[in-house]
Amino acid sequence: MTGTAPEKLVAMYDEMGKLTEPECRSSCNAPQSCCSESDCNLAAMWAKREWDTVLEPLPADKRGPKGFPFLSPTGCVVAPHLRPGCTMHTCDMSSFGFKKVDPDGAWTDSYFELRQKITTLEWEWHKAKTAKAEEPSNA
Ligand code: SF4
Ligand code: SF4
Repeated sequence: MTGTAPEKLVAMYDEMGKLTEPECRSSCNAPQSCCSESDCNLAAMWAKREWDTVLEPLPADKRGPKGFPFLSPTGCVVAPHLRPGCTMHTCDMSSFGFKKVDPDGAWTDSYFELRQKITTLEWEWHKAKTAKAEEPSNA
């Protein structure tokens, strides 16, 4: 994969979203019941701190029935890399640590392989940003 660390992270989170989102779409009895206002707030904090991106809450009339700031009637409006906890979450992974219906374990293997790559690159990028911020000013 080519590109800068942020570009690679965006692409990897996108890939993770493509892995987890169909799990929910195909099996969930209560879609988005895992969402909460506090998780939306965590996403907003992460987006600002790690990506210097301000997530603007949806206007009240564009929100879904639960009224959460980033949950529209058709789903989350935040990009996968700006809400890592949500993007990596599925009920199976949270409850069991593996996908239940996954006879050869391929989905679970792909999930952990990608998650490890994301975690490693994210940590390296975070360290590089922190080191740069702590450099003495030339001014
Ligand atoms: S994580 Fe669970 S509750 Fe949330 S949408 Fe997916 S299957 Fe549904
Ligand atoms: S998936 Fe989106 S709407 Fe749901 S808790 Fe996370 S940020 Fe909020």
